[in-house]
Parts: sequence; structure tokens; C-alpha cells
Amino acid sequence: MINKLILIFIATLIILTSCKSTKKADYANLDHAKTLAQKYIITDGHVDLPYRLKILNFRFQKEFLGIPISSEEGEFDFNRAKEGGLDAPFMSIYVPARLQNEFGASKLLADSLIDMVQGICHSHPQNFKIAKSPSDLKENFKKGIISLPLGMENGSPIEDDIKNVAYFKNRGISYITLTHSLNNRICDSSYDTVRIHNGLSKFGEQVVKEMNKVGIMVDISHVSDSTFYDVLKIVNKPVIASHSSCRHFTPGFERNMSDEMLQALGKNEGVIMINFGSSFIDMKVQAARDSLGKAYRKELKEKGLKHGEGEAKIILDSYFKNNPVMWSDVKVVADHIEHVKNIVGIDYVGFGSDFDGVGDSLPKGLKDVSDYPNLIYELLKRGFSESDIEKVCSSNLLRVWEKNLK
Ligand SMILES: [Zn+2]
Repeated sequence: MINKLILIFIATLIILTSCKSTKKADYANLDHAKTLAQKYIITDGHVDLPYRLKILNFRFQKEFLGIPISSEEGEFDFNRAKEGGLDAPFMSIYVPARLQNEFGASKLLADSLIDMVQGICHSHPQNFKIAKSPSDLKENFKKGIISLPLGMENGSPIEDDIKNVAYFKNRGISYITLTHSLNNRICDSSYDTVRIHNGLSKFGEQVVKEMNKVGIMVDISHVSDSTFYDVLKIVNKPVIASHSSCRHFTPGFERNMSDEMLQALGKNEGVIMINFGSSFIDMKVQAARDSLGKAYRKELKEKGLKHGEGEAKIILDSYFKNNPVMWSDVKVVADHIEHVKNIVGIDYVGFGSDFDGVGDSLPKGLKDVSDYPNLIYELLKRGFSESDIEKVCSSNLLRVWEKNLK
């Protein structure tokens, strides 16, 4: 009798295990990933479309170069976003650090980029609409409209007037990245070689508090470590990193977040949205790009050539062709997401591609906005549940955004 019971037990175990493995095989496939990409809202913390269009406009001396419904250029347009399931890319209102010393220039550029995104939405109301809150975004999602929330990359347009925080809130700005590649009036930058404030300045403290008050999310991508910790001391809302990755994979690269910072971010209930750029995610690629960049610049100098022109382009293409290590892989982006999950939990991570902002450095499998399903597929393969996927796609960010509006 006991032997019979043991046999039945073993048989049941075999059936259960085989069911489970079949289920797992079905669960992690690209079609399933595509279905989830369409089912869940996908937000992306950082897409640099406005500045890319601005440069094209400037280069071709045109007021406005095309509406991004369908295009061969760049990494974002309506049709490709629909294909990839992208519903709400934050449009980066990017202000380069070099404008910081020209009085009025930063604010002028920020306003003109906001005007441009409004122009896109007015021209194509069936396709795009600015979202100023998670509820706007959900409303647009139901109608099949892609939301274009606005995030300002660099606090320099605030100039020295705290009232400009509310001004940009009224213009539809939902987050402000405190600085970009150099220190500004607000704080120190991770890329700057000198530190003038040792974190947040006195004015920066006022700016952060005002952002909390008016309901603009504080974005700590690009800031120095001391700025990050200064911010966390004074905020009363969760913060975001709109497009940063994990320093664990790129030791010494301050632009990314250390494990200690991830833990502090978790305590604040904030969210890090992972940057897809190969040099943000992969040390090998970063090192290869740095050394080839040096060799390329040296060769141009020796031959008296200018970057972007005729022969220089051929040289650059050959560098890329002969060095496959120039690109990372979608699997490595999944490694970063999994790392955040392991260090601090699934509730604190999202997507922050930097599409249209990192040029030719995008990893294999994540070349434009149609490719989110490839990343979801990688997460499914690692055993992420559907609810985990939904959190990464949007609900973590929406939770933070909602709290900033209260
Ligand atoms: Zn950036």
C-alpha cells in the first residue's frame, strides 16, 4: 500500500513538473512579450526627439521639419511607437550646458522646444497629446493616443528666479533634471571635473522645495553623488532618475547609480529608469568607445579632416565595422533591470531609453521604439511575472508621478 502511494506521489510530481515546464516555455516567448507590450501602458523616462528635430531644423534652415508619424530617421515616430507598444515617452526639453552663461538663452530654448511639442500635438490630435498627469495619460491610452509628457533636462532655464518653477509647471513640465553635463546654479553635475557647491546650492535647495510644492518631479539623472544625497535630505516626495543605469556594471562612472544610492532611492520610494545606451550599461563597450574615439580624433587631426565630412565619415564607418564591441545587447539592459530588482526590489525600476539622444550607441535588439518587446522577452526569460513587467513598463513611474501631484 505504501509503495503504491509512493508511486502515485512520484507520478503526480512528474505530471506537475512537466506541466510547469511547458507553461514556462509558453510563458517566455516573443509573442507573449509583444502581447504584454500592447496590453500594458509603456512609459519611457527620456526620449530626445525635440532636440533632434531642432538640430535638423537648424541645419536645413526650416521652421519645422516634418511630423514624426512615420520616418526613416531617428529612433522615434508614431508608427514604430505603436508597433513597440510605447504609450508615453517623456519628451526631453533639453538645454545644453553651454547656454548657461548666455543670459536668457536657456529659457528661450526651453520655451521653443515646448512650443514644438505642442505644435506636434496640435497638428496630429489623433496621434499625440501632451499629458500632465497619470490620469491624462490613461485617458489618452484608452483612445489609442500617444501621450507626450514633458521633462526638462537641465534646470538652467529657471535662471535665478524661483517663480520660473511655477512658470514651467504651467507650461506642462512634469519633471526637471536638475543639471546636465556641467555644474549650474542649482547643483553639481556628475560629469563636471570641478565641484563648486559640493552638492545642492542654497538656490538649488529652494528650487527642489518649490518643485515639490508645485508638483514637478525632481530628476536626479546627471547630478553628482553629493547632489543626490542633498536632494534626498530635503524632499518630501519620491524622486526619479529619468535615464540612468547601474554603476555596479560600470564602476567609477558617476553618471550611473551605485547600489547604496539605489537603496536610498528605494527608501524614498522613487524610481530609476534604465538608460539603454551601450556605454551606460557595458564597461567593455565604454572602454572600447573611449579608446577608438581617441584614435579616430588623432587620425582626423593627422589627415586634416573634420568630423562628419566626406572621408571622415568613411573612416568612422570603418571603425564601427571592424569593432563589434561598439554595441552592447538588450540582454545587458535586462541585467540592469534585474540588478535593481535584486538590490532594492521590483517597485523601483522602469525604462529610460535615451532614444534619439545616444546616437549610434544603442545595443543590439534595442535600436528604436519598436523594440520594447525584445526587452520584455528578456525579462520573461528571467522569470519576471506579468505583474513585475507591468511595474517596470509604467506603474512604478505612475505611482511616483501621482505622489508628486498630491
Ligand atoms: Zn541626458
